[in-house]
Amino acid sequence: MVQSMCATKTTDVEATVAQVQQLVAAGAGIVRIAADSRRDCRALAEIRRRCPSANLSVDLQENYLLAADVAPLVDKIRYNPGHLYHHQRERPWQDKVRFLADVAGEHDCAIRVGVNCGSVDPAKQFSPLHLGDGHPAHSPLPPGEGPGVRAMLESALDHCELLDRLGFVRYCVSLKDSDPARVVEVNRRFAARRPEVPLHLGVTEAGMPPEGIHKTREALEPLLAEGIGDTIRVSLTVPTARKCEEIEAGRQMLADVQKRCQNYFSADMKHQHVSMAKNSSDPFFALPKLNIISCPSCSRVENEAFVELAMRVREATRYAAEHPITIAVMGCRVNGPGETDHADLGLWCGPKSVNLKRGTTPLGAFSYNEVLDRLKAELDELIARRG
Ligand code: SF4
Repeated sequence: MVQSMCATKTTDVEATVAQVQQLVAAGAGIVRIAADSRRDCRALAEIRRRCPSANLSVDLQENYLLAADVAPLVDKIRYNPGHLYHHQRERPWQDKVRFLADVAGEHDCAIRVGVNCGSVDPAKQFSPLHLGDGHPAHSPLPPGEGPGVRAMLESALDHCELLDRLGFVRYCVSLKDSDPARVVEVNRRFAARRPEVPLHLGVTEAGMPPEGIHKTREALEPLLAEGIGDTIRVSLTVPTARKCEEIEAGRQMLADVQKRCQNYFSADMKHQHVSMAKNSSDPFFALPKLNIISCPSCSRVENEAFVELAMRVREATRYAAEHPITIAVMGCRVNGPGETDHADLGLWCGPKSVNLKRGTTPLGAFSYNEVLDRLKAELDELIARRG
């Protein structure tokens, strides 16, 4: 099953209803909507009234307490273990999960434990064993390795174990990273430990098409070929009106995997699994070394110009395609600052300006027009420094 998420303001009921209907018509099995405030919850009630049969999932973002308001309106609640720390810091996360499980159970909602590389549970991230992925984007760590994988995996396993103890069974898990190799690694490890738990697969901040589709295929095709994964999303940085491209790309990928399965699964099953996993992404290995990661935008995006900015960054940096450098472009001030930390150069958007960073170091705020020149200057300096 393929899913997507509305990029409209949740409070803009007309636009959100239209997007839900477009995504469902395109074949979305689940449509996710963000709820960040009581106003969003009121809007969600109207969206539900106007989309009675859509399979709606709500993204609680940082405010887990809103679950009580939204559970009667939706089919699934998605929470991020790393975001449970933002409200009521003194309350143990276990109590918060109990609250979520109670509310979901009362209203017959499913839960997704949505673990994300950019906001891993801080208790895991900063323990001596889990120093996060604080290494530069091109550190010597082998693909798919790194303490961030362990932190994500352990966070997911802890939450599963608690939900099991609470007797809540209608849950699934997602483990998303912007690096396809780490998505493969962490999902393989999780599936080996908890094969019975449904997995939602995706590459977070995959970026613009076609690169975003290629990265997602690179990660998801081997997993799907191994029988790992129950729902998928192809997160793409596209204008709101083109959000259906996520569904089209996801459906195409599933059709391609299915076709290959039919072709391969006639002989030695084990051998064919391996062959397919190796071959499935062959056409997609031609990604440039310069890696642009960008968020798919959501109701929090600060300025409609964000998607255009991401596209302009790609054009303006094409000359550096052969340099192994990561540039992150994020759409809001809530997650932007943290989720650009691991990139070599980061841009996160405010309503009127774009904040530029070198690693974790802020370099200042620039207008949407000025920022590209400054970005190129930083990029040139980085290339010169690395030789
Ligand atoms: Fe939404 Fe901000 Fe995440 Fe982009 S970075 S998807 S705008 S929360």
